[in-house]
Amino acid sequence: MLAPEFAYLNGRIIPWDDAKVHVFSPVAKYGIGVFEGIRGYWNEHVQQLYLFRVAEHLERYAFSQKAMRFDRAVSSNALIDSIIHLCRANAFRTTVHIRLMAFIDGAGELAAKGPVGTAITALPRKTTRQSIEGAAAHISSWMRIPDNVMPARIKCNANYHNARLAMMQAQLDGYDVAFLLNSRGKLAEAPAMCVFMVRDGQLITPSGTNDILESITRQTVIQLGREYLGVDTIERDVDRTELILAQEVFYCGTGAEITPVTSVDRMVVGCGQPGPITRQLIDIYRAIATGNNTAHERWRTPVFCNTDYAQ
Ligand code: PMP
Repeated sequence: MLAPEFAYLNGRIIPWDDAKVHVFSPVAKYGIGVFEGIRGYWNEHVQQLYLFRVAEHLERYAFSQKAMRFDRAVSSNALIDSIIHLCRANAFRTTVHIRLMAFIDGAGELAAKGPVGTAITALPRKTTRQSIEGAAAHISSWMRIPDNVMPARIKCNANYHNARLAMMQAQLDGYDVAFLLNSRGKLAEAPAMCVFMVRDGQLITPSGTNDILESITRQTVIQLGREYLGVDTIERDVDRTELILAQEVFYCGTGAEITPVTSVDRMVVGCGQPGPITRQLIDIYRAIATGNNTAHERWRTPVFCNTDYAQ
């Protein structure tokens, strides 16, 4: 990893190497933090970096802090300013992945509600190879954490232990990605991604009560599918065998964007190539996120203010 020059910690933009927390802090000891991953899309034509759906990310971030009973939440406006300042300080002229984290700092124990620290980091992030070529998925033997154990709806650092176990197993067994079932044996999600399939021209995705994070990309895909392809999404329980019957499968998330799945458990999905609905969604999503398609202007927050073209 090539580190950028600056990070943000507790109100200040500081050199990357100085962004540290103590080993005795609850975030280090127990993973007591919540976070958001937000993409900034670089548009070469207008020389602008657009934060994608930052308001929706900050809304979920506020919910995560509330559900974790953190004693203080930093206001959304202040956070947007800090993200913008950090991107400007690093003079990014490329697509970036921004990580925003609220965490329990200090020397408290498990139930400590503060002091709440805030960290922001941003790193260049390219589109993955799998999102172009397609990914090989398997059904994990790890189960997705249920809502009354460790709610997947809260984007808590400690939840990612579950995702990590699944991801490590998938990689060791030669797959690109793991799909996790929930405690009822229905499809939940992948580590950091939601899953969709296409059956008989219809988009289908596990409903919000299947132990998934309420993903912003998932919501975007549902909306763009309806608006641009005239395809509605059914949100319901999904059986694992439906993934084998499906004509198309893909997963989506801020980091993964929209990534086609070409096999599940080594069984070919559709004709083994990214399908037409998935490909169209990838193109529409990218065009809107980069601002090449100027629809949904409110989804894009420009970082730089000194270009001729900035909206
Ligand atoms: N599920 C989990 C567990 C995630 O961590 C993420 C990434 N934030 C997603 C789904 C996708 O969510 P989003 O589209 O909001 O990035």
